Amino acid sequence: MSLKKSLLLTSALLFAPTMFLTAGTARAEVPDVVVSIKPIHSLVASIMQGVGEPALIVEGAASPHTYSMKPSNALALEKANVVFWVGHGLEAFLEKPLESLGSGAKIVELDDAPGLEKLKFREGGAFEAHDDGDEHAGAEGHAHEEAGHDEGEFDMHFWLDPANAKAMAAEIEKTLASADPDNAATYKTNLDALNTRLDTLDKKLVETVAPVKDKPFIVFHDAYQYFEHRYHVKVAGSITVSPEALPGAARLKQIHQKIAELGATCVFAEPQFEPKLVNVVLEGTPAKSGTLDPEAATLEAGPDLYFQLMEGIGTSLKTCLSSGS
Ligand SMILES: [Zn+2]
Repeated sequence: MSLKKSLLLTSALLFAPTMFLTAGTARAEVPDVVVSIKPIHSLVASIMQGVGEPALIVEGAASPHTYSMKPSNALALEKANVVFWVGHGLEAFLEKPLESLGSGAKIVELDDAPGLEKLKFREGGAFEAHDDGDEHAGAEGHAHEEAGHDEGEFDMHFWLDPANAKAMAAEIEKTLASADPDNAATYKTNLDALNTRLDTLDKKLVETVAPVKDKPFIVFHDAYQYFEHRYHVKVAGSITVSPEALPGAARLKQIHQKIAELGATCVFAEPQFEPKLVNVVLEGTPAKSGTLDPEAATLEAGPDLYFQLMEGIGTSLKTCLSSGS
C-alpha cells in the first residue's frame, strides 16, 4: 500500500521534469537562422517576431563590400538551420563558407526570390550610359575597373525598393514556414503586418522626395539605382562604383566637373567610408555635403531598421537638396 503510493509519487516526480524537458525541446526546435546583412536581417527579424531572433553576420558599422568573416560568424553558420543572403555579387566573403556548410542548412539566395525586380549593374556607376534608351548598352565596352560587383550581371542593392523588400519577405516567410511548420501561422501574420508597413513606407517616401526629385546629386558608391528607379530621384554620378576599389584622380576630376556642369547641389558621403574623397570632390564648388547610409552602418539591427534605413535616405535627400539653391 504505502509502497504503491510511494511509487506513484516517484513516477509523478519523474514525469514532471519530463514534461518540462519536452516543453524545452519544443522551444529549441525554432530554427537557428543566420542572415548576412542588416537590411535583410531586419526583414527576417520582422517575420520571426514572437518566435525567435535571427543572427546577423555583417554587424555594426561594417560594409558587406569589404567584410571578412570572424570566427563567431563561422560558428553561427555551423549551427544554422537556415541562412539568408543576397548573393555572391554582394557578399563575396560568404561564398566559400557557405559552400563548405553541410547539407543540414537550408541556404536561401534572395536574388533568386520570385517577383524581385532586378536592374542591370552599371559599369560606370551612375555616370555613363545615362542617355535615355537602350538599357545601358554602351557598358560592355568599358574596362572593368571594379573588383566586387563585376562578377554579377545585376546590381545587388535590391533592398532599396520596398517592392523588392516585399518579394524577399515572401520568400523568407515561405522558407521559415517550411523549416518550422509549428510557427507557420505566426510567420504569415507577421508577413502581412510587414507588407502593410512597407506600403505605408512607400507612400511616405513618395511624399518626402517629391519636392527635390529634379535636383541632381552625387553619391559615394553606386548603391541607389533601386531607390532612383522607384522614386525618380536624380543621381548624377557616384564617386566610386563599388567600395572595393577606390577612385583614381581622373575619376575624381570628372566628378568635380560633373558637379559644375549639372549644378549638383549635394554630394553624399557614407558613414563607413573615407569622407576625404567627398571633400576632394566638393572643393571649390557650391555643393553641400550630406550623408546617406544605404547599408545601415549606423543603425541598430532589428525589425525597425529597414524602415529607419529607407526613411533616413528620403530625409537626408530632402534636407540637403532643399537647402541648396
Ligand atoms: Zn553597396
